[in-house]
Amino acid sequence: MKTIIEPFRIKCVEPIRMTTAAQRERILREAGFNVFLIRADDVIIDLLTDSGTGAMSSEQWAGIMRGDESYAGARSFYHFQDRIQELTGFAHVLPTHQGRASERILFELVGGPDKVVPNNAHFDTTRANAEHSGATAVDLPIPEAGDPQNQHPFKGNMDVAALERLIAEVGAKRIPLVMVTVTNNSGGGQPVSLANLRAVREVCDRHELPLFLDACRFAENAFLIKRREPGMADKDVREIVREMFALADGATISAKKDGLVNIGGLLLLRDEELLHRASNLLILTEGFVTYGGLAGRDLEAMAQGFEEVVHEDYLAYRIRSVEYLGEKLTAIGVPIVQPPGGHAIYIDAAAFCRHIPVERFPGQALVCGLYRSAGIRAVEIGSVMFGGKSTASPAGAPPKRARLELVRLAIPRRVYTQSHIDYCIEAIAEVYQRRDGLRGLRMTYEPPVLRHFTARFEEV
Ligand SMILES: *Cc1c(COP(=O)(O)O)cnc(C)c1O
Repeated sequence: MKTIIEPFRIKCVEPIRMTTAAQRERILREAGFNVFLIRADDVIIDLLTDSGTGAMSSEQWAGIMRGDESYAGARSFYHFQDRIQELTGFAHVLPTHQGRASERILFELVGGPDKVVPNNAHFDTTRANAEHSGATAVDLPIPEAGDPQNQHPFKGNMDVAALERLIAEVGAKRIPLVMVTVTNNSGGGQPVSLANLRAVREVCDRHELPLFLDACRFAENAFLIKRREPGMADKDVREIVREMFALADGATISAKKDGLVNIGGLLLLRDEELLHRASNLLILTEGFVTYGGLAGRDLEAMAQGFEEVVHEDYLAYRIRSVEYLGEKLTAIGVPIVQPPGGHAIYIDAAAFCRHIPVERFPGQALVCGLYRSAGIRAVEIGSVMFGGKSTASPAGAPPKRARLELVRLAIPRRVYTQSHIDYCIEAIAEVYQRRDGLRGLRMTYEPPVLRHFTARFEEV
């Protein structure tokens, strides 16, 4: 069979409110051409993010009813801990309310002024937490990651030679840990190979540095290793997951991605001393060590989610669905970041709208075009998000620009069916045919920080 079907039946449905083009035109204008300011009820297909937007299974909902809400020592915690220990091989498991809470605790303990934290590419909250501690966050992606058309199978890999150079330059003493993000979210959901993880581990061993994973999408990464890495095709995804975690001394995880839940996170550690200090911080700001800012029912949903996410039928459907979207767009000529990664397709908006200069935000113009014509909500990852005035730049300096002008179509887990994806393909094809009609934008309100969330625009 060539068609990979959704490996689930649907027991509970959530209606989508359809809108007309005239309604969407009014909604878009009222939101100042910023889709973050549109109500979710006014969106037909929401591809804003894959974080916390997945659908839970009947077993997860059953777990919600079984949740033990005891303050200390809840049965649900031990169930959760057993599942995570079995999946990852880590002895010490701390629950947190989401990924950034784990990052905050970790960097409060190991960060600080004068410290340098290397990563293949920091996710924005990871970078922000490292920097908040006073440390410098350094991205070390392989050079291939910078070229959208390059077909390298593991564009998420860390540049190992660049890591060696950084260690030689700043000294191992200033590096509290090396971090690798799997899959590399900021770099297009691109996977990291086991060979690369081993090479990074080898460098860490030589310099006595701990290796941590930012493992939000560990299962998608493991499945892409199975598919793309020589000699891995016959391995169980579970085995690959164990091998990935076995190389690490710790991990921060947002369960809102491959945990298949709407809220939750984890901090995994091996070092007893670090565990002791992390537990104290957890109690200070999140909650007791057996619930970490979550309800017992959330721990049950996570225990089951981390089990279901390594089922290979699920992963085959998940990865195929993203790849299918990528293939169809490529076939009609839409320029995307190649090859398709784990959780999203990134359209190269600068190439899509060649008539719109970067200072008129081609990515935002495309986002508006997709909403207008089909009610699809995507997100600009370009100069709206990363550009603008820098506090460090001198007065009168031109605004910063992003390296690439991308539009991300993030696919929520188990939420949309093949026909929803086909609807998106049809809509994008239509916008592509009429791309010369897309209009650039001027920012009429620019907030001082994280401007993409609340900025307003007008069309020019
Ligand atoms: C989402 C994400 C985080 C942060 O997790 P939150 O649950 O949103 O706090 C960290 N790293 C990566 C790679 C992520 O995708």
